Parts: sequence; C-alpha cells; structure tokens
Amino acid sequence: MSDNNTLSTEQLLALDKAHIWHPYASMIDAPPVYPIVSAEGVRLKMADGAELIDGMSSWWSVIHGYNHPVLNQAAKDQLEDMSHVMFGGITHPSAVKLAKLLVDITPASLNKVFFSDSGSVAVEVAIKMAIQYWYSVGRKEKHQLLTLKNGYHGDTFGAMATCDPVTGMHHMFSEVLPKHLFAEKPRTKFGEEFDEEDISSFKTLIEENHQYLAAVILEPIVQGTGGMNFYSPEYLKRVRQLCDQYDVLLIADEIATGFGRTGKLFACEHADIEPDILCVGKCLTGGYLSLAATLCNDKVTTGICEGEAGVLMHGPTFMANPLATAISYASVQLLLSQDWQSVVNNLETQLSKGLSPAKDLDNVADVRVLGSIGVIELKQPVDMAAIQKKLVDRGIWVRPFGKLIYTIPPYVISNEDISILTAGLVDSIEN
Ligand SMILES: *Cc1c(COP(=O)(O)O)cnc(C)c1O
Repeated sequence: MSDNNTLSTEQLLALDKAHIWHPYASMIDAPPVYPIVSAEGVRLKMADGAELIDGMSSWWSVIHGYNHPVLNQAAKDQLEDMSHVMFGGITHPSAVKLAKLLVDITPASLNKVFFSDSGSVAVEVAIKMAIQYWYSVGRKEKHQLLTLKNGYHGDTFGAMATCDPVTGMHHMFSEVLPKHLFAEKPRTKFGEEFDEEDISSFKTLIEENHQYLAAVILEPIVQGTGGMNFYSPEYLKRVRQLCDQYDVLLIADEIATGFGRTGKLFACEHADIEPDILCVGKCLTGGYLSLAATLCNDKVTTGICEGEAGVLMHGPTFMANPLATAISYASVQLLLSQDWQSVVNNLETQLSKGLSPAKDLDNVADVRVLGSIGVIELKQPVDMAAIQKKLVDRGIWVRPFGKLIYTIPPYVISNEDISILTAGLVDSIEN
C-alpha cells in the first residue's frame, strides 16, 4: 500500500466487518467475506495464497478472464492520453469507436447509443426514453410499464419497480415505487414446444392496458437474478407481435445475456426480433470497469427529439468515461476476433456433461444449461454461507442464492477447470 501501512489479513477483515456494507448483507450479523489480493485468468488468489476457480465471472462480467494482456494494454494506452473528460459538449475516440461497434453488432434498427455507468442506470435511461417518447408524441397517459414476474432489472428506484415484487426483495419500498403490471413468468422452457397458453397472461394485460403502457421491459430468453429461467423464443416473438399490435415499445434488458452468454451474441437473436430499446452492461468492459449503454432506434430518437424538450433528459457525470470505453472497445473486439460461438458451444457441452450427475440427486429439482450458463435448482433453499465455505475449501468460487446453485464461468476457462468446477458443485449438494 502506498501509505506503507500494510494490513494483516486479520486487520483487513476486522476493518471490513466494522465499516463496509456488502451487497444484500447485514452489518450486524455479517456473513463471512473472503479476502482476494489478485486474480489471473480464471483464478482468484486469496490472502493466504490459496486459489479459487471463478465460476461467477464476477457477476457475469469477466468474460476474458482476469489480468488480460490485451485489456491491460488498452487501459494503459488510454491512461497515457486521459482517464476522464466530461461528455457534455465534448467527444473522444474511445466513445465514438465503441458506439459504432455496438451499433454494428446489435440488431440493425438500433443506431443511437446512450452511455451510462451501470446496468441499473442503463435501465433507468431506457424507462425514461420510453416515457419521454410517448410524452413527446402527445400521449402522456402512456407512462406505465408491463414486465414479467421473476424478472430482475437492477436496484435503483425505476429499475426496482420492474423487478419481481416477491423474488425482487424490494417489497419494503412498494409504497414509494411506481406501480407497474406483471405478467406471469414464461413457462415454456427453451427448446420445448411452445404452449400458446403461456402468453395468455401477458396478452390479457397488454390488451386491457395498452392505452396506459409506455413499454414492455423484459430480459430476453434468460431471466437471470430473478430465478434463472430459460424460456422459449416463441414467447419473445409473441411479445414483439403484441407490442406492435398495441403500439407499446419493447425494451430488451440484455445486461446479463449480451455478448454471447446464451449462445447468440444477443439473446433477442434466438427469436429473431428487434427491440426498440436495448440495455447492455455487465461484461461490456470484460469486467474491468463499470460501464453500460442504452441503445434505441430511429422511432424513439425522432419522437423524443421532435417533442417538447427536444433532448433526452439525462446526463451522468462519468458518461462515456474514456478509460471504460477504451477497455470496452478492446474487450468487444477481442470477443469478436475469436470463434466465440464455438467457445460458448463448447462451454455448453462441458457444463451439461459436468452438471448432469446432479439430476439423479434427491434434493435436486432441475438441472439446465444454456450457452455459458449452468444451473442446478434444488428443491429447498440452500444455506449459502455453508455451501460457499465448502466450495471455497475445494478451491471453487460461486455464489448460490435461494434454491439456485449456478455458474457463469469466464469464456477462457479450460475443459479441465470446468470439470473441477462442476464436480465441486455436484459434490457440494450431494453431501
Ligand atoms: C445486473 C443486472 C442489472 C443491473 O446492473 P448493475 O450494473 O448491477 O446496476 C440490470 N438488469 C439485468 C438483467 C442484470 O442482470
């Protein structure tokens, strides 16, 4: 440390316990935290020198692994120029190159990019775009949202109001949150024959409320944090058709699913649909820095810019941060420069092979894999701290929640490490 005041692990953990909130954690009955001092490839190094295979990609984001020479170089090069400059009235090469790249690889009609600093903010911006669009075209009453049960869109107020009211853990705030509409979660699983009944709850809600609806917001194909539900592309196709029929915008939240996670570059491609607004984040910078983006089509852009305000009413201080956009540009290029489809297909095969023995266990309800996402769903909720300790002792890092033990490893993980990881997961629930 630069102040020459090196902390022992004991001091570090004591100070952490005394002063730092961790995500969704108590400060009184604090769960254990594990001190990580460095990371390389797919391995996290703990303070005592032990190493963990990272099965979480630091919450979906570190697709190329830690300490990657290409991303490190991009960071160093950008640092030499400038780490930050404001974006109001100013532009810079990293933002421009990244925006052009995102426009090129996302569905064709999306051609405008709004940069922000986190996924939740990208969702806030998407909601604002939708509401401001209808206001601008003279339909102020269209300001409500329709979404799906089991969904997750972030922790800020606008985003929170679209999370599943039960699994979203936000019911304490329900008095101050805007009230939106929730359709039943999609039940036809990915790869199964579509049951038309599946769309009926959504259909009824949009039929009855479209005159008040600004947009539908959903996670395409994979509902992530709300329950790891992999659903039928047919459902998504029906949603797009109904949004067109009833004049409601469609927001696709691809913050978790984007950049190949589900086997397609963007999950919307499974259904061959284009949203009006698209959110990306999480692995956008390869997990190096926080950055997100909201893309939209001409319809939304024109509606907003020809309307009353004429401008989109948003502008974060660190918008399009040069360091983050430079690393992001390098990360997306790095992904596209490889045969990422084969890499993700291989991950799907290896995860399926490794996790399938769990199907035979009495306490397991379901095992499912899609692209680089592997899930074991238990019949009963897990004791997270206990199972995490067991896995850390085996050199594995995952973070189960509720009934779900899941892994979303970095794309660079070797087959050998996947077998260690999956064997560890299966073993941890077996005994
Ligand atoms: C993680 C996530 C978010 C929120 O992103 P943050 O960067 O944590 O604010 C929003 N939507 C989805 C689908 C996510 O997975």
